[in-house]
Amino acid sequence: MTITVIGTGFVGVVSSAVLSSFGNKVYGLDVDQQKIQSLSSGKIPFYEPGLEELVKSSLEKGDLIFTTSYEEAVSSSDVIILAVGTPSAPDGQADLKYVFSALESLAPYLKNGTIVAIKSTVPPGTNAKAEEIIHSLTNVQFFTASLPEFLKEGSAVQDTLHADRVVIGAKDEQAIEILKELHKPISAPAVVMSPESAQMSKYAANAYLATRITFINQIANLCEVNGANILEVIEGIGYDKRIGKHYWYPGLGYGGSCYPKDVKELAAYAKAKSQNGNLMVKIDELNEERIPKLMEKYKNRVGGWAGKTVAVLGLSFKPNTDDMREAPSTKIIPLLIKENAHVKAYDPITIKTAQKIYPDWNIEYKNDVYETIQGSDIVLLLVEWPELISLDIEAIAKSMNPNPVFIDTRNQYSEKREHMKSLGIGYIGVGLI
Ligand code: NAD
Repeated sequence: MTITVIGTGFVGVVSSAVLSSFGNKVYGLDVDQQKIQSLSSGKIPFYEPGLEELVKSSLEKGDLIFTTSYEEAVSSSDVIILAVGTPSAPDGQADLKYVFSALESLAPYLKNGTIVAIKSTVPPGTNAKAEEIIHSLTNVQFFTASLPEFLKEGSAVQDTLHADRVVIGAKDEQAIEILKELHKPISAPAVVMSPESAQMSKYAANAYLATRITFINQIANLCEVNGANILEVIEGIGYDKRIGKHYWYPGLGYGGSCYPKDVKELAAYAKAKSQNGNLMVKIDELNEERIPKLMEKYKNRVGGWAGKTVAVLGLSFKPNTDDMREAPSTKIIPLLIKENAHVKAYDPITIKTAQKIYPDWNIEYKNDVYETIQGSDIVLLLVEWPELISLDIEAIAKSMNPNPVFIDTRNQYSEKREHMKSLGIGYIGVGLI
């Protein structure tokens, strides 16, 4: 099949690479000329394990072509997949301007029978609007569909190749069969439903996962006042098969490019549909206040930030990515700077991204984690990169200033906290006494 993927951001590049690796001819299309130039030479503008190899291999075979030309890509494609961004509008609802603009650009070049599938996260009802836009610009017959994306940054290629499921939201039988065929090489059940259900499934999945994170943080708060240990509590509830031991991450709340935006969008969508008092509104509020409240608590525990040297470990929003969208570091570092702390920062791969996006941060970047910790008063562990969760505690104890404090927002050193204390390091975890 010939496919066009519109929007070569994170999702678009992964989809283009994976679909071309199945032997399809894929056009990756973007309005960003610089991005297309870089991708055409095999350079991925962000870090994602395994992606560069996949892109290079498809480029060499000629199965993957990056272009800015709608005419070149769309006029020969059987399936068009929209993967443009859908940021939150000021009222919290999804801003669909990039989706609508892409539809206007593609419509004049559509050939008869093409499927236009929306992969971007959009509210239910968007396909009807998409059909209206295309109809206003062409007389050819086409089908619309929804192909929500469930991959996780940091393991996106593997998640796509070995997905838990492929959700296909479409009404036309012929379109359903073509989309099933397209996804056949992926070893996952294809779940067919209406486009509205498919779009709602995406929001529901992210909202549920965000709720789980918020829930365990609420329980962690209670553990801190009553002497319970959140890790033991997780063990205690996790044996219940209805609950499970997986995906419990007490910490700084959820971040990244999807959960905060999708929860806000679902909350705003519920409000727009007159469903006030929606749970998502509360989840969003609790997540927004999570970091400021914790930082206030930490500030009291360390006796104020002013004049302290703070080693911030981890800048991305999670391990194995250099994506800083809604990363804890983006809220914590400005706060530390404002409070007159001296910030030293380390991340295995995200320093360049931070320097590019936040050129005004007046902080000291280090290329080595132990150099970062050396001479600091406080270590603030924000991301559980493998390198950052296996630090030599004795070496840390020797190199930090007197009365050092280790703030472990990922609970990675909980089992070593007695050891830390015996070496004179104050330990602060989440939901632990
Ligand atoms: P992104 O911001 O990284 O990329 C979007 C790309 O679309 C950009 O390269 C931009 O130049 C391009 N674009 C914008 N308007 C265009 C147009 N008219 N024509 C062609 N290209 C255009 O976004 P992303 O993180 O890849 O997310 C894309 C969508 O997928 C969003 O709706 C997001 O919510 C959803 N999603 C993202 C993830 C994730 O982990 N990043 C996971 C699941 C779903």
